[in-house]
Amino acid sequence: MSAADPAPSFFTLFRPRPGSAQLRWSLWAVLIALVAALLVTLVWLAGRYEASQVQSKLERDTADALTDIRAGLTRNVQSLQALQSQHPPAAVWKSEAAGLLREHREWLRIEWRDSTLATVAFVDTPFRAPPFVRLGRGNAQADVALACANARRVSGPAYSGSYFLPQLDGLGLEVMELCLPQVTAGHLTGYMIATYSLSEILAGLVGPQLRRSQEVAFTEADGTRLAVHGSVRRGSRVFTAQQLLDLPGSTMVLRTDSWRGAPDLFPNVLTALVTAMSIALVAVLVLLGKDMRLRLRAEQDLADALAFRKAMEDSLVTGLRARDLRGHITYVNPAFCQMVGFTAEELLGHATPAPYWPPELADQYHTRQQIRLTGQLAPPREGYESVFMRKDGSRFPVLIIEAPLINAHGMQTGWMSAFLDISEQRRVEELSRASQERLQATARLATVGEMASLLSHELNQPLAAISSYASGSINLLKAKAAAGVGADADRTDPLADIEVAMRRIAEQAERAGKVIKSVHDFVRRRDKDREPVTPQVLLDAIMPLVSLQARKLGVRVQVKLKPGLPSVLCDRTMVEQVLLNLARNAMQAMDQAQVPDPSLVIEVRKAAPVSPSEGAKGWLEFSVTDVGPGIPEPIQERLFTPFFTTKSEGMGLGLSLCRTVVEQHGGFLGFEPHRPQGTIFRFTLPAATTMAAVPA
Ligand code: ADP
Repeated sequence: MSAADPAPSFFTLFRPRPGSAQLRWSLWAVLIALVAALLVTLVWLAGRYEASQVQSKLERDTADALTDIRAGLTRNVQSLQALQSQHPPAAVWKSEAAGLLREHREWLRIEWRDSTLATVAFVDTPFRAPPFVRLGRGNAQADVALACANARRVSGPAYSGSYFLPQLDGLGLEVMELCLPQVTAGHLTGYMIATYSLSEILAGLVGPQLRRSQEVAFTEADGTRLAVHGSVRRGSRVFTAQQLLDLPGSTMVLRTDSWRGAPDLFPNVLTALVTAMSIALVAVLVLLGKDMRLRLRAEQDLADALAFRKAMEDSLVTGLRARDLRGHITYVNPAFCQMVGFTAEELLGHATPAPYWPPELADQYHTRQQIRLTGQLAPPREGYESVFMRKDGSRFPVLIIEAPLINAHGMQTGWMSAFLDISEQRRVEELSRASQERLQATARLATVGEMASLLSHELNQPLAAISSYASGSINLLKAKAAAGVGADADRTDPLADIEVAMRRIAEQAERAGKVIKSVHDFVRRRDKDREPVTPQVLLDAIMPLVSLQARKLGVRVQVKLKPGLPSVLCDRTMVEQVLLNLARNAMQAMDQAQVPDPSLVIEVRKAAPVSPSEGAKGWLEFSVTDVGPGIPEPIQERLFTPFFTTKSEGMGLGLSLCRTVVEQHGGFLGFEPHRPQGTIFRFTLPAATTMAAVPA
């Protein structure tokens, strides 16, 4: 980075550092992994919490069901005891037992047996076919005996283990015997035996709400299912709770299975909430990532733009300088530093007077800067010229173009100026001006040289006339002296002749003087200022010289000048030279071609307006017409080329100079053939006053 770069930190700030992108991406990866782990854990924990809630509810329900079963079984025992308490006769017993069976679906049969376990009476459940038809009651005797032995031993109700009771329809039932001993006055008199259907126990004694949503079953300790009741739904997930049903003589397990319905993804509100929040979090992460990508891209673009700007600034030959609203320099480019010879460090932050202001102009520049900074006067769009000083003290001209510096919020923060070193341009301009002046001087000298030779020729005429008048006068005086006074009185007075001769001498001398003076004036007049000159004055100035040549070449000259034409605004000498050149070319052409009756017409009139936008100010048209040979086509193309001539003594500068002069005045010079023969050269010049003001 060069010393002239005013914003190195700004630039480096936006240049991507090697490895920083890698670090950024790994940080992002860690963040995403952490968030993902957190979310998975949260969802898992929420799911587990919910599962534990379900499990404990199931445990509670199972315990309640167990309590219900126990209470039901106890109530049944009491009902059985009540049945036997009055020692009814067998027929009465049977009808009462049938009533009990109608109320208790869980009983398949009630038997009354005597103390030897022989059946006294029995009643089967009215709800199904007689249960023991297929197996035969005798096959269950061992279970009954075991239960009754237990009952006798504990002097209370006792149960047998469960066993399978096949039925006529091919199915079967898991049943269990209840044996209730009958003791009268301390003696065992018999037994009441009730056969329980395990599945009906579940159906009748367990609360309906539990059965509706769960499967309730009796199982053995090893998990073998004895009887099942409840919903048969199956889901993806099973919750199980078990409670031990410990009855006298029999032990079973009450097992409850609960299913969670599929899809089971968001089992409850908490999990759903946590999941929704997780999705929101992931979405925010994604958006953040997107935003970061955009920022990265913008950063990259900015870095590219800055690199581009820097390359552009470094390659510029135009000096650039920015100032804040207090006039302090805030930025300079390398071209500006090179221009003034100061380094960027020497210039940055510098207030007025700037080190490149020439001391003698500092006050003026200061005033100009104050005006600029207060915003009273906008800088001209095309710029303005000024003079700066290099570090070595040398001065050089610059073209300054200024524009306000507007920031991103549309506020002006200062001024930006562009500088062009125009010293080289000035030098070239000066060179071309000098060479043009030299060219003009040379051309004028050529004309003057020619005129001088003409003058010498023409002056011969008045001088010869003067000489002959003078010698005539001398002869007259001599004759008078020889004859003596009064000797020849009748002769005319010689003094009168001498007076006439003297007047002629004076006239000729005056004419010679005029000719000399016009050449003198032409050569000497150097002021280049444009001035309003009437066409009459222009023609008067050239006419003596034109007439001189015309007389020599025998050309008839006619001037057509309408009265009341306005003045033209012009460089008088140069326009006279144009007219002279054109007239001289015309006369020479006619002379060369030996035209029998050579004539020249110089005319001035108003030019037809080219466009309405020209305004009230009009143009005057000067034309020089000859009756010479005309200009052949191949010559026409090269007519205005400098040093093109067809004459042995010509210089070929006349027409090119004429065109330059006319164009410098904003006019146009051209030519056209004159019918039947000859050429018309025309040129236009701007009128000094408005046409309307001048009477036609
Ligand atoms: P120079 O007069 O020194 O030759 P100019 O530039 O004045 O240089 O003229 C260039 C050439 O244009 C002349 O040599 C001549 O051949 C031709 N020319 C100029 N005016 C006329 C004219 N009125 N008629 C014919 N030829 C002309």
